[in-house]
Amino acid sequence: MHDDHDHHDHDHHHDNHYSDMQARVKALETVLTEKGLIDPAAIDTIVDTYETKVGPRNGARVVAKAWSDPDFADWLRRDATAAISSLGYTGRQGEHMRAVFNSDDTHNLVVCTLCSCYPWSVLGLPPVWYKAPAYRSRAVIDPRGVLAEFGVTLPAEKKVRVWDSTAELRYLVIPQRPEGTDGWSEEQLADLVSRDAMIGAGVAAVPGIAA
Ligand code: FE
Repeated sequence: MHDDHDHHDHDHHHDNHYSDMQARVKALETVLTEKGLIDPAAIDTIVDTYETKVGPRNGARVVAKAWSDPDFADWLRRDATAAISSLGYTGRQGEHMRAVFNSDDTHNLVVCTLCSCYPWSVLGLPPVWYKAPAYRSRAVIDPRGVLAEFGVTLPAEKKVRVWDSTAELRYLVIPQRPEGTDGWSEEQLADLVSRDAMIGAGVAAVPGIAA
């Protein structure tokens, strides 16, 4: 289903050329390096960390703990930044977090209408579709239509709340715990929680059906 979204990305990549955006980034990096303002090796380390080491598994562990431990869920509601930090997930673009809990009444969906603000510390780097103009505008105008494209159909009476991320505040959606998971360990529960579910573009997997 992600293919339906990826084609909205209009950064064209040619074999021997940078896209406009890549060229701009490269030029900026060169200028900043020449002026001694940044260390390219440090930037490579940051990119590598978020591409390969920090991913949605962090967020899935937060969700699994919230499902398993009511005190932790409570803390997450009151002070998500502190609760998430207690599990060791801190750092860039995760400094100010808010957890929004799906319920029988409400489904939450996260977007950044301005750019691509995203909770790196719990989800890693954002997927291409999250940064695409089509998602950023349509998530607000027609959230149910967007959800349908992700394969999520909600009952008509369920409210959809859309949260607009900013540089100051990032959101993590806590999906509803699926039925039939009583007594499951946090590790087992975490396997049911996809990245999309924590953006609100999906729901937690039902046991026995592949995520
Ligand atoms: Fe943004």
